[in-house]
Amino acid sequence: MSVTMLVVLVVILLAVGLFVFRAIPGVRAYFGYRGKRLITCPETHKAEAVEIAAGEAAVGAFLTEPTLRLKECSRWPERQDCGQECLQQIEIDPKNCLVWNIVSKWYEGKSCVFCHKQIGPLHHLDHAPALLSPDHKTVEWKDFRPEQLLDVFATHRPVCWNCHVTETFRRVHPELVVNRELEAKRLR
Ligand SMILES: [Zn+2]
Repeated sequence: MSVTMLVVLVVILLAVGLFVFRAIPGVRAYFGYRGKRLITCPETHKAEAVEIAAGEAAVGAFLTEPTLRLKECSRWPERQDCGQECLQQIEIDPKNCLVWNIVSKWYEGKSCVFCHKQIGPLHHLDHAPALLSPDHKTVEWKDFRPEQLLDVFATHRPVCWNCHVTETFRRVHPELVVNRELEAKRLR
């Protein structure tokens, strides 16, 4: 192997090593900053849902440090030109403002109002648990806009997925449920 080839090889190895070394904070920033978050808007003092441009944060982390910028906010497009001061709240505690974590924490330790089974924290592959509205209809938490969730949690009660399916069936096909009950009575 000539000296030139050896130098080229060392340079390539160093470049690959440096790339991998810088890629780690980049990947960490991407996974750490993606997803919808709830913040208190510094202007309205109300809960709003925002999303950070995670790809951009990752590139920033790869080069020097993550650059945080919003790519979505529930107040947009009207307030698209705001100063994005809510970013400070995310920087202080990026995990606790994630919508997924907020919802998961709310369900943790709560039991279904129908079957009393414990619901526990959320899992990505499981069916999403649901909620019972004040007018006694079950609804999935995902059907609400994220910025509504804090108010929804204050007025709704937890329902497991199985009971949500049963209750929805009961509501949509009351005639079938009544028929079955009558039949059971007749057979008794
Ligand atoms: Zn249940």
